[in-house]
Amino acid sequence: MGKLAIVVPCYNEEEVLETTVRELTGVISDLIIKKKIDSDSFILLVDDGSKDSTWTKIEEAHKLNPSVKGLKLAGNVGHQNALLAGLEYVEDKCDAAISIDADLQDDISVIEEMSDKWDNGCDIVYGVRSARTTDTFFKRTTAEGFYKLMKLMGVKSVYNHADFRLMTKRAICGLAQYKERNLFLRGIVPTIGYTSDCVYYERKERTAGESKYPLKKMLAFAFDGITSFSTKPMTFIMGLGIWMIIFAVIMGIYSLIRHGQGNVVTGWTSLWLAMWFIGGIITFSIGLVGEYIGKIYIEVKERPRYIIEKEL
Ligand code: UDP
Ligand code: MG
Repeated sequence: MGKLAIVVPCYNEEEVLETTVRELTGVISDLIIKKKIDSDSFILLVDDGSKDSTWTKIEEAHKLNPSVKGLKLAGNVGHQNALLAGLEYVEDKCDAAISIDADLQDDISVIEEMSDKWDNGCDIVYGVRSARTTDTFFKRTTAEGFYKLMKLMGVKSVYNHADFRLMTKRAICGLAQYKERNLFLRGIVPTIGYTSDCVYYERKERTAGESKYPLKKMLAFAFDGITSFSTKPMTFIMGLGIWMIIFAVIMGIYSLIRHGQGNVVTGWTSLWLAMWFIGGIITFSIGLVGEYIGKIYIEVKERPRYIIEKEL
């Protein structure tokens, strides 16, 4: 048992805010009654530079119920940064924090299960969508394809988990040590370590308002996720270069034999060889330079090299 904070990033969410606050305060008071969390647990609504009345709504909610707190960012910094702002803000004000989207597409009834797992010693509890029946076919296939691609690229991430998760204070403290600017939380969190577990739920439809993630933003987000974690694309280019050179050598031997046999068009051998050989060398060189850039990229992230869990 401990003090729980629920962190909600909100961007132009005036339509859903009232319902969200009502439902979340319901969950919190229920857990307080069941003596599963401290009575001073709270909700933090992070206004990510909304252009509508979101902040006014947050102020009103705070006036009605002081356990609803607000944090207004100076401008729109995007979902991931807004979430990080909220988590870092509550880091020393709670024992654990749950992050959830404002539209309540994630099932709040599993919050109790999350808190039970926290009680059993988990530091990170991931909310995982077991079904995506309410998502459109397009959203479902693109999203699932994305998780698979991430895995192929060697990014450690939890399949079908978005940003609905519980993190204890020390896990948030670990997260705060990641200094990178290209935030992709669902890729970073699994690299922190500590004991983790999952709870499963069905993803629901948005209660109101529109998705703040149109296709363009989704693609940019996916691209960001891969390029912020994996240097595999560069290694792939280098590998490609090596194969091209090998191919050039094999074809070189072959074309020399053909040349010896004498029945080839003049210039064919030299052109053919030069094309593959130079092409291979160029591709290989780009990949090699890429490897160095990859090293620089890992360095500038200044990620923590380790996080200590216990000492005796
Ligand atoms: N959001 C944000 N800043 C942004 C865009 C979105 O804080 O620039 C918040 C938004 O208010 C919501 C969450 O991020 O709480 C997820 O957005 P949304 O539900 O629109 O995404 P989807 O569920 O469609 O992927
Ligand atoms: Mg949503």
